[in-house]
Amino acid sequence: MPHNSHFHRRHLILNIINHLGPISRTELINITDYRPATVTEIIKELLDEQLIAETGNYSAGPGRKRTLLEINKAHLCAIGLSFTSNFVIIILSQFDGTILKQDKLPYSPDASKEFLIEQITAHVRTLTKEFADKQLLGVGIGEPTHDPTNYQSGHSLHINYAHFNDWVHLGLKPRLEAETGLRVETYSPVTLPVMAEQRFGVAKGAQNFICIELSNGVGSSICCNGLAVAGASGVAGELGHMVIDYGSPTPKLCYCGKPGCAENSTSYPALVSELEAALGRGIFSSLTSHLDENGHITVSAIRKALDENDRMCMYYVKEVSTRLGVVIANAINLLNPELIVLNGFMLQLGDYFLNQLETAIRENVLSVAGDFEIRISESLATILPLGAVAEICNSYLRSDDFKWIYQLQRNGDEQ
Ligand SMILES: [Zn+2]
Repeated sequence: MPHNSHFHRRHLILNIINHLGPISRTELINITDYRPATVTEIIKELLDEQLIAETGNYSAGPGRKRTLLEINKAHLCAIGLSFTSNFVIIILSQFDGTILKQDKLPYSPDASKEFLIEQITAHVRTLTKEFADKQLLGVGIGEPTHDPTNYQSGHSLHINYAHFNDWVHLGLKPRLEAETGLRVETYSPVTLPVMAEQRFGVAKGAQNFICIELSNGVGSSICCNGLAVAGASGVAGELGHMVIDYGSPTPKLCYCGKPGCAENSTSYPALVSELEAALGRGIFSSLTSHLDENGHITVSAIRKALDENDRMCMYYVKEVSTRLGVVIANAINLLNPELIVLNGFMLQLGDYFLNQLETAIRENVLSVAGDFEIRISESLATILPLGAVAEICNSYLRSDDFKWIYQLQRNGDEQ
């Protein structure tokens, strides 16, 4: 990339339009202090390349009406992908996080790495052809990580921890680059939820926040002073493996090999096993009338029983959410966030669960760290690939060099 003054000015204007747009030409001239002819020339260039667009709106105020400019979010796109234990999620998203295409590529637990590389590359190639009229900024890959369901199902470990098994870096990334000509980046999946929420989701503008996933495991993604925290080996935020049952005479062994991990008593499977044990002891509960056709407890069955004020479900959901609240409060005491974003299918348990959880969190945080909000994520199933798209968009704008733009205030009323 050229690093001359024209390139710098052009990039600065693009960044200002991205952060403060829709914005008028006059505002751009005022903020940058560049000559009007320079700004006009750069804007024409950016419009010709479809990197920015005119909004069709005009700035308010006295004087001549001025067309406003914004990033061409419908034209600039990126591809994001991430792995679960039995499928790859691939999305193609606009610059504003609008997902234009979302696919799942299923694979069997014993599929080879070569098969996965082949399948993913072919799919990405098809996407680039289908969206040939867009400008694709790159492909972001959320690295495979451990998934509790892998251990529970005896899943082959090749999909776990890309750091120890680097077929994604050495196999998939170069293959995708060679076949598509696109920029391809890999990211630790622990950073992706905060990147997605900060750029597209409920944490826009937040600098210190934690995303917490409540599902088969309990995990977190941390943003500290505006930066996502990956940790020394890319596994920061393992809330579920904090030991909270230390010294118990009968600690449960976690799949990670340690006794007393939080996940053992706070995750969805932990809740289900407590409910099953209670039903097995013959405790009365309306849950029995909501089981699925195979006689299994489901999230919606628990939700229905809670909605009927079923005592047994209320008791165990409160137990689990109280322990979960302690774990989350510990994270809050450690990091002092302004915001907690909750994610994961356990949220489908509904208001009773959420209220108990919030009470337990607030009861256990240090009062000086108590000024934080709790929000629910809006991008549940696509949070990881969306985070990878966010990272590609950020690196396109070299946001680290232009971070100070966040501090700028528009003075549009004067225009
Ligand atoms: Zn563990």
